[in-house]
Amino acid sequence: MRRFYFVLLVMISSNVLAQKGSLRMEVSKKALSIEKKVIDWRRDLHEHPELGNGEVRTAGIVAKHLESLGIEVQTGVAKTGVVGILKGGKPGPVVALRADMDGLPVTERGNLPFASKVRTTYNGQEVGVMHACGHDTHVAILMGVAEVLASIRKDIPGTVKFIFQPAEEGAPHGEEGGAELMVKEGVLENPKVEVIFGLHINSQTPVGDITYRPGGVMAAVNDLKITVTGRQAHGAYPWSSVDPVVISAQIVNNLQTIVSRNLNVTENPGVVTIGAINGGVRSNIIPEKVEMLGTIRNFTKEDEAMFIERVKTIATKTAESGGGTAEVKIPYSNHYPVTFNDIPLTEKMLPSLKATAGADHVKLKPPVTGAEDFSFYQEKVPGLFIFLGGMPKGGDPLKAPSHHTPDFFIDESGFTLGVNALSNLALDYMNLKK
Ligand SMILES: [Zn+2]
Ligand SMILES: [Zn+2]
Repeated sequence: MRRFYFVLLVMISSNVLAQKGSLRMEVSKKALSIEKKVIDWRRDLHEHPELGNGEVRTAGIVAKHLESLGIEVQTGVAKTGVVGILKGGKPGPVVALRADMDGLPVTERGNLPFASKVRTTYNGQEVGVMHACGHDTHVAILMGVAEVLASIRKDIPGTVKFIFQPAEEGAPHGEEGGAELMVKEGVLENPKVEVIFGLHINSQTPVGDITYRPGGVMAAVNDLKITVTGRQAHGAYPWSSVDPVVISAQIVNNLQTIVSRNLNVTENPGVVTIGAINGGVRSNIIPEKVEMLGTIRNFTKEDEAMFIERVKTIATKTAESGGGTAEVKIPYSNHYPVTFNDIPLTEKMLPSLKATAGADHVKLKPPVTGAEDFSFYQEKVPGLFIFLGGMPKGGDPLKAPSHHTPDFFIDESGFTLGVNALSNLALDYMNLKK
């Protein structure tokens, strides 16, 4: 009798595996069959990039495609965002997949036949517009995922929410936008999202590879402004001044001790950068004020709080010691949380990534001091953000043009892996829940 149950159990569990395996095969077959379509979408989007909160054409293409697949579509979410809801044939959790849609004020170089010739005026300067971060590839890949999953909808045990998000690189000055606004407008509700997955193409990771990191993978950012006020005087009589230039120089130096003396560098990195320092108009006048702009980057909430406190203390106390005052604003105009990959979720989904890309092609990534507004979703629900190789095989990561530069280049042969990876993350998560 016991043996009978054992055999039955083996039969049932191998049946479940076979089912999952066959679904994976379906996904892979379908993804391969639409490879050319995905590349064509990407080329079209690449040729017609749009800046944050202006992704009108892009959103139109996305909405039309989702509608053609019979997916329920919402438009105008967080300005130009598009949300698609695909209800599977079986009950189960709601899994969100996200792609960002915006380009950058960068003038494209190089001679791709689909290079962008779009130009605009940005902050008073005439400049080109380019998909210099690869968000065109994210949109095309997620459109591909929608087509793959719609083709097997009857076998999907749950609901997939496709989030096409505007303005990841930041909204125009004075406007709200991006993931923060999408969350505010309720993108994670109705139906309520249980987990979220997203990817970023990477121009310095070889095609075929996926990289990931549990926990803090991209930094929290706070920009800052320090205004030092002293007493103006003739440059020939400094003793009658309170010199904000000297105080500012001391502040910049003292801020370096946060990373070197306050941060436990064995646990996580951190950055303090002063990127702008402005004060004074001529050689022999000690000015009244100096303004500094900077950025701080962290990987945990605790470090972030510590950095903010230390910058404030160092700036105000250094100014005080010189007889002046310092006013500190953090964040000044911009804050992104840590892009934090939920650790149990990352562990749970690692086998899915390895089964998709091959175990040798799934690699641990060091923390990145850049930032991502995917972090706003992860503040609300567990999420996993991975990186997809976009560098031609055999390329040198140190020489491959980096993101946000005019020569930024992506090898299109990696897109199908992206389509498979996101499709399988959604399906495997749902199947693991059963
Ligand atoms: Zn970017
Ligand atoms: Zn990006």
